[in-house]
Amino acid sequence: MKTAVWYGGKDIRIEDTSTPDVEDNEVLVKVHAVAICGSDLHAYKGMSKRRKPPLVMGHEFSGEIIDIGKKVKRFSDGERVVVEPLISCGKCKPCKIGKTNICEERKLIGLNSSGAFAEYVSVPENKCHKLLNSVSFEEAALAEPLAVAVHAVNITPIEKGDTVLIIGSGTIGLLTMQVARNGKASNIFATDVYDYLLDLAKKFGANMVINTKDDDLFKTISSNVGSIDVVFEAVGLQGTVQQALSIVRCGGCVTLIGMFEDKMELNMLNIAVKEIMIQGSYGYTSDDFKQALKLIASGKVKVKQLITHVLPLDDITKGFELLAEKKENVIKVVLKP
Ligand SMILES: [Zn+2]
Ligand SMILES: [Zn+2]
Repeated sequence: MKTAVWYGGKDIRIEDTSTPDVEDNEVLVKVHAVAICGSDLHAYKGMSKRRKPPLVMGHEFSGEIIDIGKKVKRFSDGERVVVEPLISCGKCKPCKIGKTNICEERKLIGLNSSGAFAEYVSVPENKCHKLLNSVSFEEAALAEPLAVAVHAVNITPIEKGDTVLIIGSGTIGLLTMQVARNGKASNIFATDVYDYLLDLAKKFGANMVINTKDDDLFKTISSNVGSIDVVFEAVGLQGTVQQALSIVRCGGCVTLIGMFEDKMELNMLNIAVKEIMIQGSYGYTSDDFKQALKLIASGKVKVKQLITHVLPLDDITKGFELLAEKKENVIKVVLKP
């Protein structure tokens, strides 16, 4: 089968590899759509410590079942599915209390095992979700990043009438904005340094957008709302994390969903004297994933407009380059193996 193997840095090669075996509890999925994630891009830029080459990346994907293992009961050949790629052990303390997203033995398809930048992937039956006919493969590939946003909103204390600030309007920021919009938040502000992303944030329902390259965030916020109850940090840089901590009101919450540098210098006194709650957010549970699928199917969250490029797998390097250089107003690149 055709596979895109990553050899570290910008070295990705299209190779012919053998089709994966299917274990008793697995199904073989023919990949119809796989999106490039910000974390895959991190690896491409040489910034990922978790991804070790050679590796077949790709964890945001959907496709069609073309073979099933002996013990598979819920699925049959020809069914359209989207795959939840985060696999938990079910035995550790976090798993036992339902926090499977932070399982101590968690594995991600496309990081700990071969991913979906390939024609076929074998995956456990219980990680597949059936797709409604109304949801396209491309849209379904965005269920995974949407689940990340759903999880972040679910674990963040947002009260009715709260003002929410989303720092960073990339894929995760735009999705988080839409999920928060469907929840209790009444006022939502979004920031970025790219106008094309902010235009979309506005289209998706942000009450106000701020280009922090042109406008002073603090002045704009204080003259328009006064205070921010909750901040979602979806960038991950020292400057933007500090921005979040400085702007959130006393007793407010900052939820971190960006791709973080592991060390940064922050004003800790600020956190203590303002009693800021810092909430880390990672991945999603199966419930979050199902909720994400429902939001796509109902049209409450729009994912189609985030897909700016659809390319064949052969053009994977072009897809990564578009993202690395932020060319052609790129947001999400979907590959079709
Ligand atoms: Zn991802
Ligand atoms: Zn576990």
